[in-house]
Amino acid sequence: MKILSKLSEIKVLRSSLSGPVGFVPTMGYLHEGHLSMVDAARKICREVFVSIYVNPTQFAPTEDLSRYPRDFERDCQLLESRGVDYIFFPSDADMYPDGFQTYVSVQELSRGLCGQSRPDHFRGVATVVLKLFSIVKPDIAFFGQKDAQQCAVIRRMVMDLNLDVEIRIAPIVRDHDGLALSSRNQYLSTEERRAALVLPRTLQALRERILQKQVSTQKAVQDWFMQEIGTESCIRPDYISVVHPLTLKEMGSWKPGDGEILVAAALWVGKTRLIDNQLIDLGNPGSS
Ligand code: AMP
Repeated sequence: MKILSKLSEIKVLRSSLSGPVGFVPTMGYLHEGHLSMVDAARKICREVFVSIYVNPTQFAPTEDLSRYPRDFERDCQLLESRGVDYIFFPSDADMYPDGFQTYVSVQELSRGLCGQSRPDHFRGVATVVLKLFSIVKPDIAFFGQKDAQQCAVIRRMVMDLNLDVEIRIAPIVRDHDGLALSSRNQYLSTEERRAALVLPRTLQALRERILQKQVSTQKAVQDWFMQEIGTESCIRPDYISVVHPLTLKEMGSWKPGDGEILVAAALWVGKTRLIDNQLIDLGNPGSS
């Protein structure tokens, strides 16, 4: 496994590689969610790149950029054990040199859901992902369903800008108690970790109720969510919404045959903001 920091090193290397080249962009502090995508890439790609870069442009000044967890040595050991070929570990100076002023904005998809409380977040994500694609030139790039809005934004950017990269989405990897793995889970105290379980529990309950046709309106979902999380004192809701997974358009109601719907939610546990979602297949017309 090689670690590359300089853009010039990647350029020389990339021109010598034949594909398919797989790419897993991350912010490091890796867990099994990241590694599941590495495994998926390893299965189908000849060369596997992982980037580790805590991208400053996707954090607001009030957010956790400076305390975002980092452990580069541990990340390298994990990636080596999973058979990664190359780690790209760029510096801020290389990614955002003096005079940098070009951003990509996937407009409507960036506004709702997490975009309401993080208005510039997806502009930073789209910009850095496009830059990473230009540098690594992957054939196939892997993203996690955990960040469902990010998946929609990246897919739309790839379509709109005619990027020659295939996007694959990996399922959410959860801890034994159901909490979706996240580098930010390590901010949680023992008590907050326990309280945070209300998020996967409520989404799982909603999944079952929706599939059993007991809940079929946005309002019923909102009411159920507020009632459930109201039982935990250190929890504050950010949002819950049922949307179409590609357009992220909010759905007032749904019925069997409506295809896939996405129930996405975010909440605050103390000072930590967590997100999670359930992708639910209601089947296609005529199938139910
Ligand atoms: P991050 O390092 O948090 O920016 O995440 C890097 C990639 O890993 C993104 O595509 C995330 O969606 C994905 N990811 C993060 N957590 C999980 C998880 N629990 N399951 C699957 N993918 C994940």
